[in-house]
Amino acid sequence: MIIQTEAIVIRSTKYSDSDCILTLFTRKMGKLGVYSKNARLLKSPLMSGSQIFAYSNVTINTRDGKYRLSNADLISNFYKLSSKMEKTYLGYYMIELVEKLSMEGQSNIRLFQLLADSLGELQNNDNIILMKTIFELKILDYTGYRPNASRCIVCGNNQNLGNYFAPGEGGRVCTKCLNQVRLKYMYDTTTFRLIEYIQSNHISKILEAKINDQIIQELSIMLDYYIKYHLSEVKIKTREYLILD
Ligand SMILES: [Zn+2]
Repeated sequence: MIIQTEAIVIRSTKYSDSDCILTLFTRKMGKLGVYSKNARLLKSPLMSGSQIFAYSNVTINTRDGKYRLSNADLISNFYKLSSKMEKTYLGYYMIELVEKLSMEGQSNIRLFQLLADSLGELQNNDNIILMKTIFELKILDYTGYRPNASRCIVCGNNQNLGNYFAPGEGGRVCTKCLNQVRLKYMYDTTTFRLIEYIQSNHISKILEAKINDQIIQELSIMLDYYIKYHLSEVKIKTREYLILD
């Protein structure tokens, strides 16, 4: 069988002096482990499409349940990510989150588009903390961990919402249900509005809006708690490199 799809390299591992094993995040089939023969040789047509972050139209051959890369036409290698250390780190953090939260062989088109769009936007946008926050909120949404900001997570009501967020339960808590959650933190009303805004708009539109730095900071801290709580099993290695003051 031959698979033709867009793909982004989210991991590239040396297999021998000439070959490498790639983890591709593909539009059609989600995450795939693919053998890339001779990709480490300078003259190889697969070389540029086998680098980390490479975004290409790929052709993959399958035989005996194994995937082999047979062609890669580069769309972008997001080279500007290497212009700043913080951008490189955030790029690595994004692909690690995708690797850990995506499924082998299972398409997640919204997640694929999010990764492609986010790496593209990150090249030209220096607001690292906003880029990180948007990406986190959206990937949580697309992988089944959507934080709920518009209704009470306990009773489902959207009246008397108040400003408390319970990371363990995964959402906002109304004033009546406050004593039913163990851990809760109070945030500004605009922080909840920002969550809803990010959840319902495309990244390019969000980046055009004027958003108060303090609110972004507050949302970033809220998501830190949330991610620690819900993804504690996942062990995201690159997260510690993201020092955002
Ligand atoms: Zn409630």
